[in-house]
Amino acid sequence: MARYIGPVCKQCRRENSKLFLKGERCYTDKCAFDRRPYPPGVHGQRRNKPTEYGVRMREKQKVRRIYGILERQFRRYFHSADRQKGVTGENLLNALERRLDSAVFRLGLSATRTDARQLVRHKHIHVNGKSVNIPSYQLKQGDKITLREQSKALKRVQASLETAGRREQPDWLEFDKGALTGVVRALPSREAITLPIQEQLIVEFYSR
Ligand code: SF4
Repeated sequence: MARYIGPVCKQCRRENSKLFLKGERCYTDKCAFDRRPYPPGVHGQRRNKPTEYGVRMREKQKVRRIYGILERQFRRYFHSADRQKGVTGENLLNALERRLDSAVFRLGLSATRTDARQLVRHKHIHVNGKSVNIPSYQLKQGDKITLREQSKALKRVQASLETAGRREQPDWLEFDKGALTGVVRALPSREAITLPIQEQLIVEFYSR
């Protein structure tokens, strides 16, 4: 699947919130959103009243950007969530959170989801003892995520583990820091996803 490769700080400024896409830099005074908390572009500082459509569209874009997914794949996630039993918005977030790259990031093995995606693509990650190089791989309850033995000493992994403490550890994942192994304890509940997301707006966006 393709991925976005343009400037990421502009995405935070466009969505008017910190999306934490650059790892450690996001916690320093170099954060572009802290420096210029208005949308990018020459008209960025204009004050326009957003339309209802605009509010919903921005929420959808925000979530898409947090998880690093392009429109076509995101739309597929939505339609799949819509077909399942239960609340569509919660199903959608659940599927996004259960992506392998997202779980690797949540475990603290990478500084960002983009970095996690690369770890997966480059076959550093094993699931249940087998190499999986598909970032969108959907984890199930009981799955065991491990780093390939030769990858445990990677500088980027060690650096990420040192700073991961400042990120919230989700209760649906269990992490053994000594063995660098994570286990999916349960499927993520809505409460476990503490990102500032109003998923109902996304449902309304696609249900227009
Ligand atoms: Fe967003 Fe700031 Fe991180 Fe850039 S540094 S990705 S603006 S939170």
